[in-house]
Amino acid sequence: MDSSTTKTPHVLILGAGLGGLTLAQSLRKKGITFRVFERDSDPHARPQGWAIALHSILDEFHASMPEDLMNFEQVNHLRPLTLPAEIALYREGDDRKYGGRDDGTGKFVRAKRNVLRNWLCNHINVEYGKKAERIKETDDGVVVHFADGTSASGDVVVGADGVHSITWHYIFGGRQNDPMRVHKSATINGLTQLSGSDFAEQLSLGHSSYIVFFERKGQQYMLFIGLDSVSNDGKTGNYYWNLIWACEDGDRDDHWAYTGGQKELLAHTKSVIEALKPEFRKVVDMTPEHMVLVPGLHFHVCLIDELPAGRVTLLGDAAHAMPPFRGEGGCQAMDDALKLARAIEAMEKTDVNSIRTFMDSYQREMLERGGKAARLSAEVLQDNRNPSERVVGGQTVRILPRDEILV
Ligand SMILES: Cc1cc2nc3c(=O)[nH]c(=O)nc-3n(C[C@H](O)[C@H](O)[C@H](O)COP(=O)(O)OP(=O)(O)OC[C@H]3O[C@@H](n4cnc5c(N)ncnc54)[C@H](O)[C@@H]3O)c2cc1C
Repeated sequence: MDSSTTKTPHVLILGAGLGGLTLAQSLRKKGITFRVFERDSDPHARPQGWAIALHSILDEFHASMPEDLMNFEQVNHLRPLTLPAEIALYREGDDRKYGGRDDGTGKFVRAKRNVLRNWLCNHINVEYGKKAERIKETDDGVVVHFADGTSASGDVVVGADGVHSITWHYIFGGRQNDPMRVHKSATINGLTQLSGSDFAEQLSLGHSSYIVFFERKGQQYMLFIGLDSVSNDGKTGNYYWNLIWACEDGDRDDHWAYTGGQKELLAHTKSVIEALKPEFRKVVDMTPEHMVLVPGLHFHVCLIDELPAGRVTLLGDAAHAMPPFRGEGGCQAMDDALKLARAIEAMEKTDVNSIRTFMDSYQREMLERGGKAARLSAEVLQDNRNPSERVVGGQTVRILPRDEILV
């Protein structure tokens, strides 16, 4: 479609992550012109992270996707198994399995992230190798300059460019200190594969993932065990795990959990979880030393009270990054995208006041909703509530059956 013939703004999207691509597809459905620029050289340049839970937004998400996008089932990380998505919570000393499970309606899906991203790329011409460096607003539009010396013009720019957002820096331009913080927690992470009865046992603890809350020497810990994907024959599960604890200096790049070697980190994890039941230790115990991630992960938190309303805006982690302890960041980024597409549809590109008005209402709702999710996510490690009082997959938790599973 030719942008000169449309009334709605021509949109430049910076970043082809979950948020940027969801926006692109929603605009495509509405017949609004856009371009998507991604700094990576190709879609496989970086690992895309592990499975991601999608829940409260799914009805609106499906309604906003163009009809030519089919087979959403392929993103389900449990395929080829037919188990429903399920996230379980345990507290040491309490044998009950709490959690949330899809009720068969598909309203709670755990998606394999790279498959979801590929699915969202369908029919979108992502322009790779385009690292945005500078943004310039003029009286009648915005120009983005890229590191390769090229530039692009549009009516609106959306910074879907994650935790190191260049768009954020353009908007605030030194007016405010950077609110992006590394979260004060430490984490050790690893990967492994389980087959046969070991795999079946872990599936029965939680089909998609589970968390064990426990305390050692006065320190609260979370052990997160996640199934990333299943082999084509359904017999092997690819697992990842994170041991996480609140830690005042965990945000430092010289913290030992960030700089430590694989042997040291695995040994530390095993000693911390030594007294947990063997089934909860299994995934860590079966992790080969070389599959411990180094350097470790840092999680970010960003809380912004307000954004000036104009032609340049933000969505997702760029506006409200959060640690993944509640599994919310990706969902919030996609929710932003769905709402921003509706706001853009209402704008008149020749009327800057209309752009400002709809941008302002989008931004207020986005910052309030995303900021609340970021705050709650940042506080999870201080939150001593019982599993029964928590929320997972957008649902209040309940006691779940421990099914016998055969693979
Ligand atoms: C370990 C881990 C587990 C997680 N688990 C979950 C979960 O279970 N559920 C959940 O909802 N969320 C989860 N999250 C959070 C989720 O990954 C993020 O919230 C989500 O990816 C944010 O999407 P986004 O589109 O805003 O940003 P991103 O996905 O970070 O995408 C930003 C894109 O912008 C590109 N980019 C950056 N700078 C530029 C530039 N200058 N020019 C052009 N392109 C640029 C980047 O290359 C990237 O592709 C997890 C995060 C982590 C780290």
